[in-house]
Amino acid sequence: MRSVRALVAFAPPWVVALMLLVAPAGLLDLPAHAEPNATIAKDARLAGDRERTRFIADLSKKVDVHVFALGNPYRVIIDAPEVKFQMPPGIGKEPRGLVTAFRYGLFAPGKSRIVLDVSGPFLIDKSFVLEPRDDQPARLVIDLVPTDEKTFQASLQKARTAAVEKASLPIPKAPVRPADAKPIIVLDPGHGGVDPGTSSQNGVTEKEVVLAFAKVLKAKLLATGRYEVYLTRKDDTFLPLRSRVAFAQKKGASLFLSIHADYFPSKIDDPRGATVYTLSEEASDDEARELAAKENFSDALAGVALPDDSDGVVANILIDLAQRETQNRSVVFARSVVGELAGKTDLHTKRMRSAGFRVLKSPDVPSVLLELGFLSNPDDEKELTSEQWRERMAGLLTEAIDDYFAKRIARMPF
Ligand SMILES: [Zn+2]
Repeated sequence: MRSVRALVAFAPPWVVALMLLVAPAGLLDLPAHAEPNATIAKDARLAGDRERTRFIADLSKKVDVHVFALGNPYRVIIDAPEVKFQMPPGIGKEPRGLVTAFRYGLFAPGKSRIVLDVSGPFLIDKSFVLEPRDDQPARLVIDLVPTDEKTFQASLQKARTAAVEKASLPIPKAPVRPADAKPIIVLDPGHGGVDPGTSSQNGVTEKEVVLAFAKVLKAKLLATGRYEVYLTRKDDTFLPLRSRVAFAQKKGASLFLSIHADYFPSKIDDPRGATVYTLSEEASDDEARELAAKENFSDALAGVALPDDSDGVVANILIDLAQRETQNRSVVFARSVVGELAGKTDLHTKRMRSAGFRVLKSPDVPSVLLELGFLSNPDDEKELTSEQWRERMAGLLTEAIDDYFAKRIARMPF
């Protein structure tokens, strides 16, 4: 739980809200459908104590909201049609009453979400939206009261059916493509929307640096004329881990590269540089295991109900076999990346590692997770936000990808 807390504490979504305010629209690939009279959320606050905690958000007009609870960890999810968040900086980090933190953002195109983290079992006692009156804005009000675990679990039943249906969408079969078709590469910028990922002391968020990098890498790969390239997300929208896997699978990707940036809270051991991760049941070391837990927590942060790990995909023994084959290819690609980056850029001392990353669990797409660097390290932060560094890193990765496919095609029987 400690790493989870740290993640919440270091993740100020206001930076993104601020960027949206000051940046020209084209730069951030804002969805074109953002209507001019969209609802604006201007402020939010907590009131009350542990006996009754109230969450209040000020809105420019009344909206329909869908409010429900999730367990493990305890959360309140508030879904609404697209809301523009123009909240004051630093909001949502101060605990009060039953609520330890809250965050907000785009959850899916045209759908916004607010997530409240709750410290223990609770009931949503009241939830309503008030019309604006006199000089008061429209207000969303949610009252939480404490309860025991049994009552909480019983209250979850209704919400669960709806949420799990969505989380357990089947992984689609890969399409059949002609043998001479260009390899398809899917780049997966991590996090997004309601889940900012990690962030630096200066408030640079993982979700923005990885998206900016993925766009540069896409352009570089397309320029070779050798690949078809897709991004799992093109803007600041949240995407569940399973949907990222499903996206690559549906495209028939030959390679899936999930792009992240790490944060290491300790000042004593200040790591830096890129690290390449592959999937394995057994983590290569404690740090890798902790990182996988942190990255896998993305869905929980954004309020997606987690399916059991024992569900269809991983348990199925046939898929398991296919996955082993895929894992071998993942490792070959990871070596190719490490080989290319070594000596030409900073690599973490433990450059190639493995752990149980949920986003790498595609049954037949070789998948690698690249941590570009550490937002906790000021030198790395400088690089991660530098256009020049992005160009250079993307160039090196393109060479690694070329190398991987050149070798693969050479091995292929005709
Ligand atoms: Zn991440």
